[in-house]
Amino acid sequence: MKRVGIVGAGIGGLTSALLLNRQGWDVTVYERGSRVGGRIAFEQEGDYRIDQGPTIVLLPEMLLGILEEAGVDRSKVELLRCDPLYRVHYHSERVMSKKTDREEQATEIERLFPGEGRSFTRFMKDMDTLFPAGRAAFLEQMFPRKRDFFTPSLMSLMGRLRAHKSVRKAVGDYFEHEELLDAYSLQSLYIGGSPFGTPGIYSLLPYAEHEYGIWMVKGGYAALPAILEQELLSRGGKIKLETEVTGLTIRNGICQGIETAEGIEQFDAVIYNGDFPHLSGLMNQVPEAPVKRKPYRPSSGCVLIYTGVDKRWEDATTHQFFLPPSLDGSLREVFNQRQIPVKSSFYVFNPVAVDETAAPPGQSVLYFLIPVPDAEGLHWEQESETLAERVLEEAEQRGFPGLRAAIEWKKVRTPADAARDGLYCGGSFGIAPVLFQSGVYRPQPKPFPKIQGLYAAGASVHPGGGVPIVMQGARMAVNQLMKEMGK
Ligand SMILES: Cc1cc2nc3c(=O)[nH]c(=O)nc-3n(C[C@H](O)[C@H](O)[C@H](O)COP(=O)(O)OP(=O)(O)OC[C@H]3O[C@@H](n4cnc5c(N)ncnc54)[C@H](O)[C@@H]3O)c2cc1C
Repeated sequence: MKRVGIVGAGIGGLTSALLLNRQGWDVTVYERGSRVGGRIAFEQEGDYRIDQGPTIVLLPEMLLGILEEAGVDRSKVELLRCDPLYRVHYHSERVMSKKTDREEQATEIERLFPGEGRSFTRFMKDMDTLFPAGRAAFLEQMFPRKRDFFTPSLMSLMGRLRAHKSVRKAVGDYFEHEELLDAYSLQSLYIGGSPFGTPGIYSLLPYAEHEYGIWMVKGGYAALPAILEQELLSRGGKIKLETEVTGLTIRNGICQGIETAEGIEQFDAVIYNGDFPHLSGLMNQVPEAPVKRKPYRPSSGCVLIYTGVDKRWEDATTHQFFLPPSLDGSLREVFNQRQIPVKSSFYVFNPVAVDETAAPPGQSVLYFLIPVPDAEGLHWEQESETLAERVLEEAEQRGFPGLRAAIEWKKVRTPADAARDGLYCGGSFGIAPVLFQSGVYRPQPKPFPKIQGLYAAGASVHPGGGVPIVMQGARMAVNQLMKEMGK
């Protein structure tokens, strides 16, 4: 039986493990932490429990389809539909609900931004053709050689997807009002990029929200890794918790083993699921892996506030965005000036809106996410407390009356915590989704063509971050591994 060692039990590592186990491989996963899941985790205090990282399920069919391929029955993961998808609270006091039904959405946009309902219909109609083409081109194939990317058909698709413009400019071909530009480009923040620095290809995201919906995992996203862990163990896979991989054995261009404090273990193949820029630290400068001259650019970070609250807000939706007077200006402070903005945008997750068991009866758990720079150069201990106070006060005024007096438990997490947990520069979402770190320019599932037996899966690897996308990347890594080593 062939043996694979997997470094890291994030969603990329767990998905790879299950797919390879299904193909008859002997799988061992090494995880330095004391639990599986990586960024997909819970924060917990007494009866309060809330997701620490991902909350929004996008592309549910991709997620469930890959689980099925990995031998996990889709009935094991219950998804709850959020409709409205979310609300956007503008500083102008407009509140826009995003909806699944196109006609209802066009009506909502027309109500708030007269004349622009038709723009939405045109956006969706164009994307009906571009999305399947974009998915096949950018999510379902890897680019081992530059020439696989620079083909006439892909270049033409890049043009139609406006890769030469930013997402904000790309959606500007449809919408006029600043607030609509905000609502149809803020999705780049889901992967840690600015709407003005992320290429137009990513306008596939606001389309996908309407077309495939936004969902929540019943019990929290962090219920998923435990399901996958149980499945893998029940099928004979091995998981070594609290076991850090300190090196990879690479000889004559072949990756042959994994080094830990226990010694070296031999494998036929290795999949690396840590944050990709850290891989070089395990490789001891082998000649087959070229040294990167320019450092990777990290994605943005987050300050997160987790709370347990003795109150419920009956009309609050599961997901909500609160925007400052100028989202563009505020995000330029984050991404260009690398500072905490004077007026921040923030996202609020309120799971009791679709799952009333998410908190004790009559109570809520709330999660506030504020986009900030990566960990470098800021004094997070001081900065984050002031920021958290400011955001909670604003949330109370704009959507959650009585919030602060009802808080029973509060915890703040910063980019410095993320960096301590192994995320590159404390960026939350892997390397930034800028043009020169996307597609062919992003590390590939087979990262070094001249090294046999070494593959990579994770948010910093093509096709990029977000749970279903990382799972799709793991699937590509496994398919490549099977193609090269399966026989
Ligand atoms: C605050 C936040 C909000 C998010 N929101 C969403 C969302 O709403 N929807 C969505 O789809 N996605 C969201 N994401 C992104 C999503 O969580 C990630 O894209 C995804 O979970 C990354 O998975 P990964 O496979 O890269 O592994 P990671 O989660 O990075 O896990 C890697 C694992 O490898 C282990 N490891 C690393 N190096 C070693 C070593 N040398 N030895 C042993 N173990 C090692 C680490 O301990 C870790 O457990 C969010 C992320 C964050 C941080």
